[in-house]
Amino acid sequence: MSRPDTTTPVAPLPLTTLVCTDLIGVTRGRSFPSDELSHYVSAGCGWVPANSALTPQDSIAASNPWGAYGDLRLVPDLSSRVTLDNGPDPQAPALDYIHCDIRETDGRPWSACPRTLLHDELERYRAELGLQVFAAFEHELTLTATTVQPDRLAFSLQAQRRQAGFAGWLLGALRAGGVEPEMFLPEYGQHQYEITCRPSLGVAAADRAVNVREITREIARQMGLNASFAPKTAENAVCNGVHLHLSLQDLEGAPVLHDSDDANGLSSLGQHWAAGVLHYLPALCALSAPTPVSYERLQPHHWSASYACLGHRNREAALRVCPTVSLSGKPIAAQYNLEFRAMDATASPHLAMAALLIAGRLGIEQRMTLNAVTREVPDELDEAQRQARGIIALPTTLAQALDCLRQSGALLEALPGPLVNTYFALKAQELALTEALSPAERCEHYARIY
Ligand code: GLU
Ligand code: MG
Repeated sequence: MSRPDTTTPVAPLPLTTLVCTDLIGVTRGRSFPSDELSHYVSAGCGWVPANSALTPQDSIAASNPWGAYGDLRLVPDLSSRVTLDNGPDPQAPALDYIHCDIRETDGRPWSACPRTLLHDELERYRAELGLQVFAAFEHELTLTATTVQPDRLAFSLQAQRRQAGFAGWLLGALRAGGVEPEMFLPEYGQHQYEITCRPSLGVAAADRAVNVREITREIARQMGLNASFAPKTAENAVCNGVHLHLSLQDLEGAPVLHDSDDANGLSSLGQHWAAGVLHYLPALCALSAPTPVSYERLQPHHWSASYACLGHRNREAALRVCPTVSLSGKPIAAQYNLEFRAMDATASPHLAMAALLIAGRLGIEQRMTLNAVTREVPDELDEAQRQARGIIALPTTLAQALDCLRQSGALLEALPGPLVNTYFALKAQELALTEALSPAERCEHYARIY
């Protein structure tokens, strides 16, 4: 047969990706030509249950609840679409993805979907407590070039200028992606930077955390840089944290965490909420500081967290009352927020935020009393002083944190069984796979993955 004498030149098709961010905070999905989006709007695309049992080491946990069976759908939430048409590399294809909920093929929510869990918990806040949640995740990262670069002083203009081109592209791309970036700043560590963004309502806050990570990786890739959000990228490195800032409002939009009569500015509702978080904090660590390397960071004098306590403007406290600025003229109650610091970017933003909200809700429902409040550095108190203040130590390994979660009673019961069973299976496999690594190897290993 002869070839037709006219040919159509091939042009690359713009692609759109339907994504979910899974239990280990990895964003995965499937792509199709963008002009076919309408085919995927109502029923999404296919997905495999056992994907949710993937470890960071890229193996599916041997004893997961799903095995080879079952089929799911990634159903897009169109309001969460991120589209970046251009970037620093003019040859790079557009980035276009949409966050999805994982559903059964008949449309029912899937029990192990972290985004659905967060959505359901936010709905309980609205329906049972009359509250809405605003949150912002702030991220630290290590940004390195392929060539060795000389040291730059912490927080210095020189460190900022070294990545000024990246910073401009990044903030432009974050803004185009709907992230509402605030700042890109040089941090304490070598090659360490931080990205902050404005708070958003509900699920969008966790989607936004994913967008910060993925857009940062995209711009870094296009500029030939390496970005890692891992909690510790080398044995002598300053740690990268994720700090979750959270405030609660009633359904009319009035802030409810603040009361100027309290020494720490916390309303009684805020105190119950914080007491719940502190009560469950050792168990929460299994979800918010969820890899072996997370415990290289959760140590005293790292400005992260090593004890369950609330501190006023104290960076060693797991839960920090953030500063308010009377200079700004903005009402204090509208600025007031709590910062959860026992988190890093190896966590799923949706799962960790949902678990934190569950712990806070249990504190409100059980009218828990807030004890562990300190203006001191908890590590500098002796054990008797800590005990007197109700300050307990956080787990020092992932295995300990997982045991705390197993024994956490109401918190564990509030999490869907299939989700936690999958989680325990994959974390057991991850522990076994990384057991033989030295601390330095562990840092390098996770720096490559996250
Ligand atoms: N790098 C610290 C952390 O691991 C936080 C430092 C700060 O307060 O910005 O959380
Ligand atoms: Mg910082």
